[in-house]
Amino acid sequence: MPVDMDTIVSLCKRRGFVFQSAEIYGGFGGFWDYGPLGVELKNNIKRAWWKAVVQEREDMVGLDSSIITNPRVWVASGHVALFGDMMVDCKVCKKRFRLDDLTGDRCPECGGELTEARKFQTMFKTFVGPVEDDAAVAYLRPETCQSIFTNFVNILNTARKKLPFGIAQIGKAFRNEITPGNFIFRDREFEQMEIEYFVYPHQAREFHQRWLEERLNWFLNLGMRRENLRVQEHEPDKVHLRSGEVLRGNAKRVNDVVELMTPDGTQTIPAEEVVAIEKGELAHYSPQCFDIQYNFPMGWSELEGIANRTDFDLTQHSLHSGEKLTYFDPETNEHVVPYVIEPSLGVDRCFLAFLLDAYHEEQLPKEKRTVLRLHKDLAPIKVAVLPLARNRPEIVAMARKIAADCRKRWSAMYDDTAAIGRLYRRQDEIGTPFCVTVDHQSALPADPKYDGKVTIRDRDTMQQIRVSADQVVNVLRQKLED
Ligand code: ATP
Repeated sequence: MPVDMDTIVSLCKRRGFVFQSAEIYGGFGGFWDYGPLGVELKNNIKRAWWKAVVQEREDMVGLDSSIITNPRVWVASGHVALFGDMMVDCKVCKKRFRLDDLTGDRCPECGGELTEARKFQTMFKTFVGPVEDDAAVAYLRPETCQSIFTNFVNILNTARKKLPFGIAQIGKAFRNEITPGNFIFRDREFEQMEIEYFVYPHQAREFHQRWLEERLNWFLNLGMRRENLRVQEHEPDKVHLRSGEVLRGNAKRVNDVVELMTPDGTQTIPAEEVVAIEKGELAHYSPQCFDIQYNFPMGWSELEGIANRTDFDLTQHSLHSGEKLTYFDPETNEHVVPYVIEPSLGVDRCFLAFLLDAYHEEQLPKEKRTVLRLHKDLAPIKVAVLPLARNRPEIVAMARKIAADCRKRWSAMYDDTAAIGRLYRRQDEIGTPFCVTVDHQSALPADPKYDGKVTIRDRDTMQQIRVSADQVVNVLRQKLED
């Protein structure tokens, strides 16, 4: 049974994954706070991503750039002129909607008449310096990738990479979304994990496919179920020719020609040969884009976008800054403007998808259990140490020592606040892969069954093994790190 959003929202609040921002003041739409378990899960997601796309690859390096930057960046990127959504307001109930969310021409809430659609700039504005005038306007970045382009030459010169190579960045992004919602799916403040992968133009199609597979495998390797993921290609524009032929790509009419951008380059078609242009859904700079979608409770929706951005961004920044943003090819002695493949993933959306995917309710012989089957690398707490009796100093001492040893390597929790069955259920519900239980037999030499061993319980199988107390860390190391 797929889990509904309310169940996940309630689990997140109850267990300390995610809270509304400023909940005591009624919250703040589109802003969220990550609690003790949430911050661990979020960090683990980011770590797993960084490991896969930077640490384990020779062709990738990282960047951490500022959130606010020179506003000319957003003019060059097209965001000042183009970034935003078409919105309409209901004249009766005053609610505001994104035009592309509406199916009819009346208000979906009250049936009232709607205003004309207007462009809504979704970049947050602020002022830099003491004077609040137009010259001081700056923006909170709506995506992390632009500073990768503005740092392209710096990184090329310092990291000494050859094409193809990529730059990765994790960081906050801000969008004044008209309709934030679906919990942390659409926020006004969120985090992105973005890669700009620079290639020779003729390699763009091949590396686009490779990154699509690479990114899909990342989700699968972290345990996401294949049936909950699918790939959708953005519908390209279709150029209908007089000859009956239909060409696909990103089409733009310029005077008496149609320029058709395709993954293999731009074609110029005389306008008289064109009968019609059918607009698709590609962004203006991209000839091809894939979305990895997840089957969220509200339906299939974008989890990660993987776009071919061509040389659009480097060319724009070069034009606007007057700086040369090219790669010198030592073999041909030519300057090349690389093409860019961009896999772009939201941390918060990814967090939600991993939680939804991991959530299971199971009927056991005597009770129901809720278990988060999170991959061990993502689980917020790796080990919980549970003393069976808190009034026996020997048991407490052994359990505390094991917890302290575990903490040196992993996030570990010590919990003695309930009966053991309840403690197991709690850990299952937050996805802790292993519980270590210390009992009389483990720690009391006077006990007739004394063996100095403790129990390690596996979250998924609920199987228990007994190992010597001094071997716990070694055994867990094999289970958690190999
Ligand atoms: P949408 O069509 O859903 O608004 P988008 O196509 O504008 O998304 P991109 O600009 O491609 O999104 O952003 C890349 C990724 O950043 C998305 O795939 C998503 O994971 C994440 N993302 C974008 N906007 C938001 C948001 N408002 N809240 C949370 N994550 C977001």
